[in-house]
Amino acid sequence: MVSREYVLELLEKLSNAFSPPGFEDEVRNIVREELEGIVDEIRVDALGNLIAYKRGSDKYPSIMLDAHMDEVGFLITHIDKKGFLRFQPLGGFDDRVLYAQQVMIMTKDGKKIPGFIGAKPPHLLKPEERTKIISIDELFIDIGASSDKEVREIGVDIGCVGTFATRFRILSKKRVLGKAFDDRAGLTAMISALKILKDTDYNIIAVASVQEEVGLRGARTAAWQVSPDIALALEGTAAADIPGIPEHKESTALGKGPAITIADRSIIAHPKIVRLLISVAEERGIPYQFKRVIAGGTDAGVIHLTKAGVPSGVVSVPCRYIHSSAAVMDINDLENAIKLVVGFVEKASKELIKK
Ligand SMILES: [Zn+2]
Repeated sequence: MVSREYVLELLEKLSNAFSPPGFEDEVRNIVREELEGIVDEIRVDALGNLIAYKRGSDKYPSIMLDAHMDEVGFLITHIDKKGFLRFQPLGGFDDRVLYAQQVMIMTKDGKKIPGFIGAKPPHLLKPEERTKIISIDELFIDIGASSDKEVREIGVDIGCVGTFATRFRILSKKRVLGKAFDDRAGLTAMISALKILKDTDYNIIAVASVQEEVGLRGARTAAWQVSPDIALALEGTAAADIPGIPEHKESTALGKGPAITIADRSIIAHPKIVRLLISVAEERGIPYQFKRVIAGGTDAGVIHLTKAGVPSGVVSVPCRYIHSSAAVMDINDLENAIKLVVGFVEKASKELIKK
């Protein structure tokens, strides 16, 4: 196992990095640094997916592990005369979470500058406006400029992208807060599992994919290229073990272990993958839970439909407040996800046949 310090440091570095869909350079560089020297080959494909090969014995199947590098972000679409920026989402936001958030925007020359999502102040709202959610059309980003000319001098223009500016924090001995745990939790699990498995004889193809949040795009072309025997997508998934949600609707809960997907909107996980994950967890005493709501989709949704089909599954780390400016996660769930992935590779290599 890798140490807790390593897991926390890696998660912090990945969570703080800037990586909206289509602009995943910063996270890709971190993944590359972590994997250099522990895999046999790293390459980046035409769309920007990082594909790392850990080659082993021919007798073992090739196992694709996937985690996406992008996070929900913003695209600047208009700059007004007073220097305010209008924006559109890149990925699925809930409009409720945008107002009054701090953001960072990448300038054309790659610098990151701070900004704030503003709207009409409350005392200027009509009574009927006070109770309604402020839609993205009414919001704007203030970067401290007083004219469109000044915005452009700062280096911001239409086409620049941004993310939330939340910094990683440790909340308690077991829980952490940060942005983009979807899917930096999955990336942390994938990188850690590769570190643990580096001297083994298994065949692992680790894909850090692009553009998941806008429609599972990178994983589609990556899976086609690597054409694995089986695949496992590693994710951060919604946990709703919070006030106001009945237990049967919480989907996943913090502290109860990684979540195994039976089905979501994009896939019915292959029963042999699900059975294998459960047996690994039970044999090794790794706590686990099922994802208990059929919602959302993951890269496994496109991976399993590649070529003649790839038996695929999903392991996720539960995260509260996903797709907002921050998420809260239990570090034990992440560590147990790493153990489950390692166990999966070991057991699947020995028990599942090649195609
Ligand atoms: Zn995700």
